Amino acid sequence: MTGISDTHHEVRSRLLDALRLDAPAAWTDDELLVNAGALEALGRVVDAHRVAVAGEVAERSRVELGDQRLSTRKGCRSAVELLERVTQVSGFEARRRVSLGAATRVRDGFAGEPGVARFPSVADALATGAVGADAAASIIRELDRTRPFADPARLAAAEQALVNEATGSGDGAPVRCTADELRVQAQAWAVFLDPDGAEPADERAMRRRGFRLGRTLRDGLIPVTGELLPEVAAKLTRLFDAHRSPRVGGGFQTDHDRARAAESGEDRSPDQQRHDVLAAIIDTAARSGEHPTIGGAAPTVLVSVRAADLTSGRGVAHADGIDTPISLRAARHMICTGGTQTVTFDDTGRILALGSPERCFTAHQRRAITLRDGGCIIPGCTIPAAWTEIHHVTPAADGGPTHPDNGVLLCWFHHRTIDTSGWIIRMARGVPHLRPPRWLDPTGTWRPTTKSPTRLADQHERPPRAPAA
Ligand SMILES: [Zn+2]
Repeated sequence: MTGISDTHHEVRSRLLDALRLDAPAAWTDDELLVNAGALEALGRVVDAHRVAVAGEVAERSRVELGDQRLSTRKGCRSAVELLERVTQVSGFEARRRVSLGAATRVRDGFAGEPGVARFPSVADALATGAVGADAAASIIRELDRTRPFADPARLAAAEQALVNEATGSGDGAPVRCTADELRVQAQAWAVFLDPDGAEPADERAMRRRGFRLGRTLRDGLIPVTGELLPEVAAKLTRLFDAHRSPRVGGGFQTDHDRARAAESGEDRSPDQQRHDVLAAIIDTAARSGEHPTIGGAAPTVLVSVRAADLTSGRGVAHADGIDTPISLRAARHMICTGGTQTVTFDDTGRILALGSPERCFTAHQRRAITLRDGGCIIPGCTIPAAWTEIHHVTPAADGGPTHPDNGVLLCWFHHRTIDTSGWIIRMARGVPHLRPPRWLDPTGTWRPTTKSPTRLADQHERPPRAPAA
């Protein structure tokens, strides 16, 4: 082991001697480009070995080894985590190396016969530094999906053709293509290898269904991707359409619909509205109590925030399950909906005191408020009561009680934006009253609000009483 380790040290120190970071500034254009290519070739050799090592780590950490998995013995959940710890690369990079290493590793042969790698041509090209790791990954990712049903000989031919494209070898010696071009070609091969009719369309769809949440934030948002089965997409579309504002909801609109949309001042795009309906669906599902518990508790999201930050309005909060901080506004919203539990730490991080959970409306209170409000109380909003959250009109932090006289139904969006939207809510004798934003109603008139069918019927019998000031 020390022999190899010594070699690595020697190569590294020679490289550091031979290469200088300030050298490129002095090169001519052509020298610059030639050296860029030459350095890449050097990097490919190192990459090939990094991939091989990752494949071996994964092999020794395979699930069937149980307690004897290398990753388990070293206190990690998987080969990927072990690699991350040892090399300090990202989870994405560790996963890429592991899957590439597994696909190009020579497998044990049967009864002493020599083994072959799952992708032998890619393995050879990678090992000699003829293709880079990202090009190899493009080929393997696309072709591997077709393996269950593709003809093995055609699959092997596709693999060889793609390697030729990548290395500029073979018949006609094409210009070497980039990893991105290779991905496009590999996708074309995958379509060819996976012709329609190889299996019934619905079974293909069933196998390909998926829903993925991105791992990292892009411009403050988590990207989602995936492919839904048509019936799932249809149900989701119905839910979205049923609860989007009438102005953009599609279909025929009555004058009443248009008036309602104008009154609510709806200015969300259809995409934004679908997002907000999804938020409401998720909250409703989490609240239903019919979901598997996590450690005995309902699947709620824990939010931690410093009391001082919450008061001053400066700082950030953290939600478990995502690595990036969330805004204090988001934290306040989640606290208003989900209640709080105060945990006091000392300077060293030890827990000094644990408060009891509070500020959550009970199911009884929720039913009563639902009968009174009937749905999100903002005019023009079509989110039904079952999908709403209960908002503390006077915040709990300012002494507002968790009592029906201080709780109103708001949908996720109107709750999230209640501090900035211009809608002001106040309670008068236990009845919610609204003052619309100035741009919507310059008179600043307070109006009682409800969507409860019983109370609406009542209002038609007699005019609403003016609220006490
Ligand atoms: Zn609403």
